[in-house]
Amino acid sequence: MLRFLSANKIFNQTKFLQPNSIIVIESNIVKEITSKAEVPNDKIEFIDGIITPGFINAHCHTELSHLKEKININTGLIEFAKNIIKQRNEYTLNEIEKHIFDADELMYKNGIVAVGDICNTSHSLPIKKRSKIYYHNFIEIMGLNPIYAEHSLKEGLKLHNLFLNNGQKASVAPHAPYSTSLELISQIEKHNGTIVSTIHNQESEEETLFFNGENSKINDLYNYLNISINFFKAPKSSSLNYYYPYFKNKKNILVHNTFTKETDIEFTNDNVYWCFCPNANLYIENSLPNYKAFQKLMSHICIGTDSLASNTSLDVCSEINTILNHTNIFSIEQLLQAATYNGAKALQINDVYGSIKGNITSFNVLTFKNNKLKFISKLK
Ligand SMILES: [Zn+2]
Repeated sequence: MLRFLSANKIFNQTKFLQPNSIIVIESNIVKEITSKAEVPNDKIEFIDGIITPGFINAHCHTELSHLKEKININTGLIEFAKNIIKQRNEYTLNEIEKHIFDADELMYKNGIVAVGDICNTSHSLPIKKRSKIYYHNFIEIMGLNPIYAEHSLKEGLKLHNLFLNNGQKASVAPHAPYSTSLELISQIEKHNGTIVSTIHNQESEEETLFFNGENSKINDLYNYLNISINFFKAPKSSSLNYYYPYFKNKKNILVHNTFTKETDIEFTNDNVYWCFCPNANLYIENSLPNYKAFQKLMSHICIGTDSLASNTSLDVCSEINTILNHTNIFSIEQLLQAATYNGAKALQINDVYGSIKGNITSFNVLTFKNNKLKFISKLK
């Protein structure tokens, strides 16, 4: 039986459709989008709200979910990282899995249909195998000393293979420029071929200082970890400028970009997707990116929640509201595009996600009142 849905607004990929638009559905699958004039009035079901494609959370660490409310706010990235290292293994596998299970449910209930998830362990694997959410697993690899590059990649590939052998989508990913050698970045990018990867980019001012050869808390972190980095010669450029040549021809999601400058953006190309996680930026650094600098790149911006270690929820609407609170340079349509279509393109799943097509149970019903976006329900 056919159904004909109209709504206050229907958002598809980049814009709100004409007000008279109707989604035609058969067995929950979108057949076409037509207009009211084509459908008898008494057949039309009205949905009170905005219909959008399901949300894409382009950056998360579900395996850190057990650290919710365990780490103080506004400590800065380096203290935050030290706390993660100290606390992440203080829990049983059972506890960790329970929190990952809850995080997966929470995202589903908040209208998230696909996630780019950073993995340092296999803890999330049993949950993902049964999840209703699509996961792209970014197997995180690090090591600043280039002599260990091959070894680090080999170790990372063991975890990568475990995910692949369990039917999961996965690629390998460098952690951050200050923790991964160019040699390792180059090997990682080579290994991924055309599959998307990701990196934490310019999340802290300390990264800029480190690459400029100035006194940086990143040096303290290496001291704390008892790792000598005497071999490292600061390039006296921005971190992005330093590693970007290895990224140029590959699709990558750059995450955070809190301290990215216009001069950094200028030399990047269309292979870059810029992922914003504003709630985590406020939690950790109490700073937000210079969004204005990204205005021209709206088709390449996506949204992430980061982990529950640095956020109070995993909620794309809340991330968008934080951006709306802070700046009015993005329209609601642009931000919905970032949270749906752009994220799907970044994760290379736009054949299934990010548009008004396919199964309607992946779609969301939202409201937008007083400059605030609110998730109401999944479309039924
Ligand atoms: Zn992250």
